Amino acid sequence: MRLTTEETARAARFFAEGIHRLASRPVRLMEVCGTHTVSIFRAGIRQLLPPTVELVSGPGCPVCVTPNEYLDTAIAYSRCSDIIITTFGDMLKVPGSDSSLMAEKAKGADIRIVYSPLESLTIARENPNKKIVFLAVGFETTAPTAAATVLQAEQQGITNFFVLSAHKLVPPALKAILAEPKTKVDGFLLPGHTVTISGLEPYYFVTQEHAIPAVVTGFEALDILQGVYLLLEQISTGKAELVNQYRRVVKPEGNPAARRILDKVYQPDNAVWRGFGVIAGSGLALTAVYQRFDAKAALPLGKVESREPAGCRCGEVLRGLIMPADCPHFGLSCTPEQPVGACMVSVEGACAAWYKYGQGR
Ligand code: SF4
Repeated sequence: MRLTTEETARAARFFAEGIHRLASRPVRLMEVCGTHTVSIFRAGIRQLLPPTVELVSGPGCPVCVTPNEYLDTAIAYSRCSDIIITTFGDMLKVPGSDSSLMAEKAKGADIRIVYSPLESLTIARENPNKKIVFLAVGFETTAPTAAATVLQAEQQGITNFFVLSAHKLVPPALKAILAEPKTKVDGFLLPGHTVTISGLEPYYFVTQEHAIPAVVTGFEALDILQGVYLLLEQISTGKAELVNQYRRVVKPEGNPAARRILDKVYQPDNAVWRGFGVIAGSGLALTAVYQRFDAKAALPLGKVESREPAGCRCGEVLRGLIMPADCPHFGLSCTPEQPVGACMVSVEGACAAWYKYGQGR
C-alpha cells in the first residue's frame, strides 16, 4: 500500500523525532550497501540526524570492492583481438594498474556495455568467430541472472560465451568487518536487495554471535529513516535482533528459486576484495559442470601484473574505518572526472557520493 504525501511526511516526522529522542549517546551505524549511501545523501538524511548518530559506509558497492587484479585481467582480455568484452557501464571508468576499460575502448578494443548478461548471448551468436567475455561483477542480487545466462548458453549450444566471475557474497564481508579489532559499529542497515535473494538466515550471526542489532532496510528515504529508528530503538533497550523493515519486498526465506539457479551454476569460493584481501567463501566460482564457461579456465592468460593505486584509501573506506574526506586525495587529486580509486568512480561509491553531495572538503 502506497502512502500519500501527507502520510509520508507524518511518518518521516515520527521517525526523525524518535531518532532524536533515542540518540542519547554516540552511535556508529553502518549502511552496508552503496545504494543506501546514495539514497541517504540524496534525501538529505544526514542533515536530519542528531550529531550523536554517525553513518558510515560499508563494503556493499560491487565495483568498489572488485580489486585491480580483476580489472587488469579484464583489460588484458580486451587487448586480445579475438575477444569481445561485455560489461555493465560502471566498470568502464574504474582505473586498473595502468589503464582502464574506457581507455582500451578508445584505443579500439571491442568492449560493449550491456544492461543484462543475457545480451552477451546475442552478441555471441552474431559473432561466432569471437569469444565473448562477460565481466560478472555484483552481489547476490545480480549473480542469479549471470547464472541463468550460463544455463541459457548451455541450452542454446553457445560455445563462445565465457564469464569472468567476480561475484561476491555480502555476509562473509560483514564477518571480516566484525573480526577487525579496529571496527566500531553499533548497528547495521542491511541491504534489502541482496537479502531478497539470500533470505534472513545468513545474517543471524550479526545479532546472535556479535550482539549487534541489524535491520534489513529498503531504499526509499522513509525506509532508511525507519531503519535508523529501529536500530536506535534496539540500542537504547540493549537488544540485538535481526529486524526486517523491508517486508513489502524481502521474505524471510528469500528467493529459493533464484538460489537454486545460483547453486546449480556457482559454488562458494575464496575471493579477493579491495581493502580486505582474501575473504574465505566470499566469492562465487563456476562449478566443475560449467567450468567450460569460466574465462580464466578456458582462456588462460599469462601472468597479469597488478597493483593498487598509490595512496588510495578506498579499502579503509569500504571497511568503515575512515570517511572519504579523510583520504588526502579526496576532492583534490581524486574526483569523479579524474578518479584515483574505484570508490570515486562507481555511482554507488562512498567517495563519489560524498563528493557529489558536497560533504567533506
Ligand atoms: Fe581512493 Fe579517491 Fe576515495 Fe581517496 S578519495 S579513497 S583516492 S577513491
